[in-house]
Amino acid sequence: MARGKKIILLSHCILNVNAKVEGFEPYESLVKEIVDYLHKNKIGIIQLPCPEMALYGIKRWGHVKDQFDYKFFRDTCKELLNPIINQLESYTNAGYSLIGCIGIDGSPSCGVSLTCRSSQWRGEMHMNPNLESVLSNVDMVNEKGVFMEILEDSLKENNIEAEFIGVNEENIEISLSEVFKFIDDKVKNI
Ligand code: SF4
Repeated sequence: MARGKKIILLSHCILNVNAKVEGFEPYESLVKEIVDYLHKNKIGIIQLPCPEMALYGIKRWGHVKDQFDYKFFRDTCKELLNPIINQLESYTNAGYSLIGCIGIDGSPSCGVSLTCRSSQWRGEMHMNPNLESVLSNVDMVNEKGVFMEILEDSLKENNIEAEFIGVNEENIEISLSEVFKFIDDKVKNI
């Protein structure tokens, strides 16, 4: 691919589905469709780290945002992101364009316009007499996941402009067309 001086940030599991919570890989062709589109537009990819793999490994359960919304998780996200922010500072100072960031909607970490929340999602599951009710008590809310919030703050602190969009794998056709339009609009305005 020719050097296009355009960079995009992708959530880690768009390129590496293995990082997702086991059992959750709803859309098999995601990596191919996104990478093909970026390649066609000469956009280089920076793969963000996966904070959940870093902190909880591959045997983790699915979490909600409320469980990650505490200081150590946030501080670790910031540490993981520092090398990325440093690279972006160099790229943007040298005239490269940051197209934006593509996250994963619904994720408690990488959600952009959708994340999952529950105040009841905690504790010892096998001893909980109200487990059914706890499991059904998850709301999808229109806000970022914790990792994307930290990324947004870190970019602002470093005067790096970037817009975000999330892929919604539960509604993939509409979502991918919105992602591709997002990319097209950014490329047109460079
Ligand atoms: S934390 Fe982010 S990168 Fe990691 S599996 Fe979840 S959505 Fe993907």
